[in-house]
Amino acid sequence: MSALEIAIRRKLYHRGDAEFEALSGLDFTVPAGQFACVLGPSGCGKTTLLAIVAGLDQAYDGSVRRAAGESRLGMVFQTPRLMPWLNVRENVRLALAPSPSAEGRAEELLREMQLGTLLDAYPRQLSGGQQRRVALARAFVNDPDLLLLDEPFQALDAPTAQHLRELLLALWARRRPTILFVTHDLREALSLGDRVLFLSAGPGRVALDLPLDLPRPRSPDGAAVEALRKRLLESYPDLLRGLAAVSATAESAA
Ligand code: ADP
Ligand code: MG
Repeated sequence: MSALEIAIRRKLYHRGDAEFEALSGLDFTVPAGQFACVLGPSGCGKTTLLAIVAGLDQAYDGSVRRAAGESRLGMVFQTPRLMPWLNVRENVRLALAPSPSAEGRAEELLREMQLGTLLDAYPRQLSGGQQRRVALARAFVNDPDLLLLDEPFQALDAPTAQHLRELLLALWARRRPTILFVTHDLREALSLGDRVLFLSAGPGRVALDLPLDLPRPRSPDGAAVEALRKRLLESYPDLLRGLAAVSATAESAA
């Protein structure tokens, strides 16, 4: 049984009188518990796709189905989007219906994520990496069936980003939500996913659906990821244009 069935025929944006096609013929399904990475260059429609899957955008032609009974959704946006007037504990509790057990759950998760000493801190007092960790805690506190992540670790230094990826993988391994993880970083996708869906440059559609059977744990800089990255670069140079971590020397983000 698929956790997610996506069949987006067309997504148009209107710019004044002009129409702009952001997605076209974007179809795929995701089995329950899979860690699926969606990889594509900047502007190909990744954020648009997540907004549609989350139900935030309903102005599109096509359908998105989620498995019956699966109702809890977690989301991590491109920026942490914490409430500046709420402390860490309150920001995470925000995702839960108020109850005494909810309070305990939020604190337990925050401690597990090494945020126990920062429960009363405000977002402005946190580093970028800590803010992202809080955003991750907020997405997980509901015990989601489906987790949508939109380039959650971009613009962090490499060790912080890697630490957060390991934290995400540990949470996923334990609770096994279905994950749709969006990125434009080839190494990140290859180091995280059970599968990588390569989107074409806009309007986005699936250009390559690649199952990954590399053993875990993997490192984005490890030999297995590096060998696959090189092979993909030889086989699909056009597809990889515009992605980060494509060339070994020019690491600039798209
Ligand atoms: P990505 O997340 O892959 O970088 P987006 O989904 O943000 O891409 O955007 C896809 C395309 O749609 C881009 O060309 C972007 O400029 C355009 N776009 C996104 N949001 C809007 C909007 N609200 N109105 C008009 N165009 C938009
Ligand atoms: Mg985006």
